[in-house]
Amino acid sequence: MQEQLNEIRPYRAIHRRKSRQIFVGNIAIGGDAPVSVQSMTNTRTTDIQGTIRQVNECAELGAELMRISIPDQESSAALKQIIPHCPVPIIADIHFHYRRAIEAAQAGAKCLRVNPGNIGSDEKIREVIKAAKDYGCAIRIGVNAGSLETDLLQKYKTPTPEALVESAQRHIKILEDNDFFNLKISVKASDIFLAVASYRALAAACDYPLHIGITEAGGLTAGTVKSAIGLGTLLWEGIGDTMRVSLSADPKEEVKVAYQILKSLGLRHRGVNLISCPSCARQAFDVIKTVEEVEKRVEHIKTPLTISILGCVVNGLGEAAHTQIGITGGGGERHNVYMNGRPDHKVSSNDLVDHIVKLIEEEAAKAPK
Ligand code: SF4
Repeated sequence: MQEQLNEIRPYRAIHRRKSRQIFVGNIAIGGDAPVSVQSMTNTRTTDIQGTIRQVNECAELGAELMRISIPDQESSAALKQIIPHCPVPIIADIHFHYRRAIEAAQAGAKCLRVNPGNIGSDEKIREVIKAAKDYGCAIRIGVNAGSLETDLLQKYKTPTPEALVESAQRHIKILEDNDFFNLKISVKASDIFLAVASYRALAAACDYPLHIGITEAGGLTAGTVKSAIGLGTLLWEGIGDTMRVSLSADPKEEVKVAYQILKSLGLRHRGVNLISCPSCARQAFDVIKTVEEVEKRVEHIKTPLTISILGCVVNGLGEAAHTQIGITGGGGERHNVYMNGRPDHKVSSNDLVDHIVKLIEEEAAKAPK
């Protein structure tokens, strides 16, 4: 359905930047691969069961990659026990200590988030790169406006797009000089203007796949808005091969918000895309409560489905025309149900939520697996 709509609505087209493709485990990043969604655990890595649970919960919601911090040797030992219970490839987050990077590669991480320029001597850098090659790990260079090298801060006075890109290029050169090309790059900032300008400049300067994110974006509401503007702008311009929404919130929310951004741009189609009205005095049933309950109960659905729930006929018919299941408030307590844009049957207010959930589950079950 989405593809057909795109054909007749060319203004929806997004022309993605052509990047080279790498793999993190079985997940392709870059090239023609879909923009992958990742998140990061916030448990202590030494809490093995808690970390496994969080990885699995996020994966269930669609996270295709998960990042785990490795701040010390106990964490890299825990990682070895965690990875066999993870359904998605794990990225190990390393800062400075080259031994942690090697241990993470040995533990089965499929990507190391480490900046080679921060590791220390050439010998240590060579050892990390050798471990990445030996164990089939990609490397993510993660430049962050908050931790830019001192000499770049002196040169540019403040974090600028040029400074962030120059930092990234230094790290890229170190890896390329060691014949390592299995890499992706991020240039994150909490300021969306700086982040967007930096990613644009980096996208023009290289063809490596880009991990996009607005770092330290804030809590659930503020961070969602900032990420939607920043990441939405980049994705709309075709920039971005994998993404993380950073929120001071449960990592599961990061996954949900990432998919909402991607679904809004027509870049991914996973789960229920819910079109609903804000409700007003014309509503024939409690729209907000209905939407809240339906959203919660269909979180587990992976099949892409578009559903509209509108409180009355004012915009209800027009929206239902483009959805697989459309609900429009009718007169009294009986509401209209549209299937694939056509009037189909009626449902009463009392049964509304259960009925919508049942219809969604039935439609999802029909979809080819
Ligand atoms: S669809 Fe109807 S109930 Fe919903 S906001 Fe519009 S006029 Fe109000």
